[in-house]
Amino acid sequence: MVYLYLAIAVVVVAVLLVAAFVVPRRRGRIAPPPAPPAAPALDEKPAVVEAPDTPVIAPPPTVETPEPVAGRLVRLRARLARSQNSLGRGLLSVLSRDRLDDDAWDDVEEALLTSDVGVGATTEIVDRLRTRTKVLGTRSEGELRALLAEELVTALQPDLDRTLHSTPTGDRPAVVMVVGVNGTGKTTTCGKLARVLVADGRTVLLGAADTFRAAAADQLQTWGARVGAETVRGPEGGDPASVAFDAVREGTERKVDTVLIDTAGRLHTKVGLMDELGKVKRVVEKQGPVDETLLVLDATTGQNGLTQARVFTEVVDVTGIVLTKLDGTAKGGIVISVQRELGVPVKLIGLGEGADDLAPFDPEQFVDALLG
Ligand code: GDP
Repeated sequence: MVYLYLAIAVVVVAVLLVAAFVVPRRRGRIAPPPAPPAAPALDEKPAVVEAPDTPVIAPPPTVETPEPVAGRLVRLRARLARSQNSLGRGLLSVLSRDRLDDDAWDDVEEALLTSDVGVGATTEIVDRLRTRTKVLGTRSEGELRALLAEELVTALQPDLDRTLHSTPTGDRPAVVMVVGVNGTGKTTTCGKLARVLVADGRTVLLGAADTFRAAAADQLQTWGARVGAETVRGPEGGDPASVAFDAVREGTERKVDTVLIDTAGRLHTKVGLMDELGKVKRVVEKQGPVDETLLVLDATTGQNGLTQARVFTEVVDVTGIVLTKLDGTAKGGIVISVQRELGVPVKLIGLGEGADDLAPFDPEQFVDALLG
């Protein structure tokens, strides 16, 4: 019996030994977990491991998914708060006075002029509102709001074509040129626009033709990298036209949908600007037409901005306006005067410094946001 117990014990020990040594070795492709570091002896000082000054391995760039374009103006409507107070609410409070006498109409006129609606459009809006409120006997607040909204939308010329021409034709990518005075938000707008296009499912290549400011090219490249769009750049101080040309050629070779070209906007001399921009456009056109030329204007600069804008429209055939910095200005009426004076539709508006704070312009939604 004892021998039997001994034999069983030997067998059990043998099985355990095999399990402990043989099986792990046969599964040897799995790396063993690292042995825990030996505890330092009590009198031993721990070694100081210094972190390197710069990380050795840069993290891979994370490609972001931009926000969908539809509904952006609705999301950003609160950003028009200052224009809402001065123009929207101001007008509504005057219009809902008991008596709409000459003084009241003077106040309406003033509110429109102060918010940069411009003289021509202001006169038209006031005349039409005067006539319509007279004809309409009862004037409930709702009716007045509707009348005002209609007149503002009409002044914004809702029938203008605001499509962004960014669809490729055959083998050729669409070429979008972005022009404007430095500081208006041109490079930022290029970056945001790249996101708008990517959000719409397009592939984009950026051209940093503002070769006078290395920072502008860096800034553009950073914006592009965030949405996986590459940037063609040239040497600092190099020829902007040749960068623009290279960008279109690269874009064609890589079969991207849209090539977006950021240009320099130094307004030192009108002649210099004309020469440079005109050349960029001519050189690009050797490969095909420029589909869209967007002029970036800073909404806070008012009439001054309009004067600058005219210079650009003399040089290049501007097909659309991007009005930036409409957040935090009481002069939202500038959308109306810009379109009337330049005869070019506002296609996009900038409502903040955030990456997705650029919205397609829609007259009805804009007026709705203005009136609160
Ligand atoms: P550029 O010299 O014309 O290329 O101008 P930048 O693109 O460098 O922009 C100038 C400044 O305007 C930057 O601080 C931008 O963040 C800011 N900016 C651009 N667009 C907007 C906008 O819609 N709203 C606000 N608040 N700031 C903007």
